[in-house]
Amino acid sequence: METTKTACGSDIQDKDIFTMYKGVKIYFCEKECLDEFNDNPTEFINSDHMRIKLPIIKE
Ligand SMILES: [Zn+2]
Repeated sequence: METTKTACGSDIQDKDIFTMYKGVKIYFCEKECLDEFNDNPTEFINSDHMRIKLPIIKE
């Protein structure tokens, strides 16, 4: 499963900036956003920074 936009809602510029989260590949606009996500994924997902809807994630 792969998202087509970065977590911040912009088009994907750098395909190396991504993380796997519960089987979903999530891209980020910059390294700082990735670091922020890795620090606390749940908080990032629930923040305004997160502009995309993740596909349904099977736990
Ligand atoms: Zn960002």
